[in-house]
Amino acid sequence: MNKDKTIQFNRPYMTGKELHYISEANLSNKLAGDGIFTKRCHQWIEQQTGCAKALLTHSCTAALEMAALLLDIQPGDEVIMPSYTFVSTANAFVLRGGVPVFVDIREDTLNLDERLIEAAITPRTKAIVPVHYAGVACEMDTILDIARRHGLKVVEDAAQGVMSRYKGRSLGSIGDLGAYSFHETKNVISGEGGALLVNDEEYALRAEIIREKGTDRSRFFRGEVDKYTWQEVGSSFLPGEIVASFLWAQLEEAERITRERLDIWGRYHDAFASLESDGLLRRPIVPAECDHNAHMYYVLLSPSVDRQHAITELKQRGIATVFHYVPLHSSPAGLRYCRAEGDLPVTCAASERLLRLPLWVGLAQDEQAQVVETIASVLARAA
Ligand SMILES: *Cc1c(COP(=O)(O)O)cnc(C)c1O
Repeated sequence: MNKDKTIQFNRPYMTGKELHYISEANLSNKLAGDGIFTKRCHQWIEQQTGCAKALLTHSCTAALEMAALLLDIQPGDEVIMPSYTFVSTANAFVLRGGVPVFVDIREDTLNLDERLIEAAITPRTKAIVPVHYAGVACEMDTILDIARRHGLKVVEDAAQGVMSRYKGRSLGSIGDLGAYSFHETKNVISGEGGALLVNDEEYALRAEIIREKGTDRSRFFRGEVDKYTWQEVGSSFLPGEIVASFLWAQLEEAERITRERLDIWGRYHDAFASLESDGLLRRPIVPAECDHNAHMYYVLLSPSVDRQHAITELKQRGIATVFHYVPLHSSPAGLRYCRAEGDLPVTCAASERLLRLPLWVGLAQDEQAQVVETIASVLARAA
């Protein structure tokens, strides 16, 4: 098949206003961080999610690193999280000497299995980090209840959860802290980008300080102090105004972007019902209390299907698909820095069987139909 005809796995979507806002940011003569576009983005996130304070960062990774600093994670402190996640969830805490403790995931949502959390708690446990996989919420009420009973903090890795809700509440706004990603592979993007959502007011001032190289420069700019000085350990976690102005163009359209993604998601879901009845795959399961954002469409292939073979064949037929995650507990750094609570059988099975399909705004209906037909034919032959 002709290479240009390949249906890409992801295509970053541009709303059309990005360059306009970037030139506006330029003319305003403020290119460093925390200018008018950053403020607009902060307000938008605060209004949209109800978090006490939103702070743009240069990535979700940075927001998670800020969370580890805010929680004052010390060497040997344990943090409970899934192994089935992106490296940053664990790495942010390992940077502070923390020890990620991996707990298995649920069969239905592939999210942290809340029923297994308590068995992993030790006197060194400081926090729980639920990851809202595919923008579908973890069972937050149960997780918050466990955290409260054991005196633990909750940091939501809501990298994939922008515009998603759990019982009506925005993901990222439910735990003590939340982290968003605006990486180009996510729904709402700025190339690289992210945000820290501060829900516990107690962290608001320190979060600003940590983000501004450990100084109280934000208070100085607001006129609350007459000079700014080094207050505590921090780093430079804020993006410049060019990134924030690009992001503003995306946030303005976040609802439409989500709607269009949900349409594509829904068409996949309908189309694969029969393959599911045939036992060739399992479709994603979204609990009733979760409004998701169609961050991804994946299928769990039947164990009888050779996934690598399927990916290769799909590629030859012009369809780009990908798998993930290589579980962190079996990765070289994971083995060195982390601890697994048990064998994590659901994590291992998902990482071997999961296949992600093309999903991006602009994917035409006939292209999507081609993805569906090709998958049906490849799986029918592979089984
Ligand atoms: C994308 C992602 C991250 C990292 O986001 P960046 O903005 O690229 O740093 C962290 N956690 C999860 C679950 C992600 O999907």
